[in-house]
Amino acid sequence: MTDHKTKIVQAGIGTDPAHGSLPPPLYLSSTYLWPTPSEKGQYDYGRSNNPNRDVLADALTELDGGAGAVVTSSGMSAIDLVLNLIKADDLVIAPHDCYGGTHRLLTHRAAQGRIRVAFVDQNNPAALAAALASKPALVIIETPSNPLMRVVDVKAICTAAKAVGAITVVDNTFLSPLRLRPLDLGADIALQSTTKYINGHSDIIGGCVVAKSAEHVEQLAWWANAAGITASAFDCHQTLRGLRTLSLRLDAAESNAKAIATFLTQQSQVTAVHYPGLATHTGHDIVKAQQSGPGAMLSFEVAGGLSAATQFCQSLEIFKLAASLGGVESLICLPETMTHRGMAETARREAGISDSLLRLSVGIEDETDLLADLAKSFSSIS
Ligand code: PLP
Repeated sequence: MTDHKTKIVQAGIGTDPAHGSLPPPLYLSSTYLWPTPSEKGQYDYGRSNNPNRDVLADALTELDGGAGAVVTSSGMSAIDLVLNLIKADDLVIAPHDCYGGTHRLLTHRAAQGRIRVAFVDQNNPAALAAALASKPALVIIETPSNPLMRVVDVKAICTAAKAVGAITVVDNTFLSPLRLRPLDLGADIALQSTTKYINGHSDIIGGCVVAKSAEHVEQLAWWANAAGITASAFDCHQTLRGLRTLSLRLDAAESNAKAIATFLTQQSQVTAVHYPGLATHTGHDIVKAQQSGPGAMLSFEVAGGLSAATQFCQSLEIFKLAASLGGVESLICLPETMTHRGMAETARREAGISDSLLRLSVGIEDETDLLADLAKSFSSIS
């Protein structure tokens, strides 16, 4: 089996040695029997390892083409986990328009004195070169960025970062390995919030870190166990179940997103559409070169500021107002007051996030229904 779609559908199927259960059974046990006091079995304690976590880790490793994966309790714990690969006072370079939670974590880790951080516009060659000249230990890449959908050239940044000795980490939450394979493009680590596309049903919180080198996998697994941030058996079981349909879900959502992006470009109240699948998007050529599709996330700006954006959200029926993404259902959020409120206002403006920016996570509902829902909301603000 070489096709990823086949592999993720088949992950763990038919591997139960006890009763031949077709999908892997759920092992909730916190602890396991030791054959003798001096030898433990394959599993001994649920925080350290668990069969459901292992089968999910194997599937995610395979998808990203890594040496191994650590499955964590959330996307944020996955990001915090990689900070254990660097020393106190080492410099971390992160995108200036990264996910608000990442911005908050790095800012506060820096305030604690654990790391130093510089937020950089990675699309600005001079700013990136200046940041890399400060010899960072870790470079975090997030593409497309949240919420402005800016695209960066992963291969070029990884090559430049490697030249100064930095570990490169890509937050691939918005695309999943079915659209972007960071390790193939030179990254050392690919991580994701599995809360989003991997699970795909908005009913668990999880994360994963896939590393290219066995040494990194070993260090990350050690820290995840030491800090107790590994994912629960139940969440891993659910996530593997969601993962099996990732390919179908992503294809359907992406097709809807393409139609919606085109529709948005035709609306008089829309002042900007940010979707890397549009030929007019500044990152479109990079998307074509490094990705197998533009994904199903987009954002746009409406005329009339915060009040029009608020009214627009509240007039929708199918798109639900919620701060997440990657589920089968379509969501809308207002980053100014929702996902990015943890960022200082000045940092939001510096990153280009206006108060009339709206972000859509396009789901797999019927395209005509989604377009009609948006059209109705546009009439409510005209
Ligand atoms: N990275 C990105 C790009 C995200 O959008 C999010 C959450 O929205 C996270 C990381 C954090 O993931 P979690 O909510 O699973 O901790």
